[in-house]
Amino acid sequence: MRETTRRIFITRSIASGCVVLAAPALTHAAPSRVEEADDTAVALGYKHDTQKVDRQRYPKHSSAQLCSNCSFFQGGAGDAWGGCAMFGRKHIAAAGWCAAWAKKPG
Ligand code: SF4
Repeated sequence: MRETTRRIFITRSIASGCVVLAAPALTHAAPSRVEEADDTAVALGYKHDTQKVDRQRYPKHSSAQLCSNCSFFQGGAGDAWGGCAMFGRKHIAAAGWCAAWAKKPG
């Protein structure tokens, strides 16, 4: 094997090894979180804290309504953040609320 060819082979082997080592870290990255300023969040009046919902805009809102007791919440019991059908892959706060809130059955 010529020296140049050997160098290329070694460089590519190291590079592919780095990709293999980095892949698990990428697949376990935490999902991004919804920002209150995101378009969908603004449209739905979403707040990370149900206590901070605009009561003038949503007079039927109750502070007992939380993402964690909404039928769209995809997080587990006790999770501070979780998925929601309204926000795609981004997570919302269990203590949050938006205008699509619907009581979880049961
Ligand atoms: Fe929270 Fe339910 Fe609105 Fe999703 S739909 S952000 S879980 S209140």
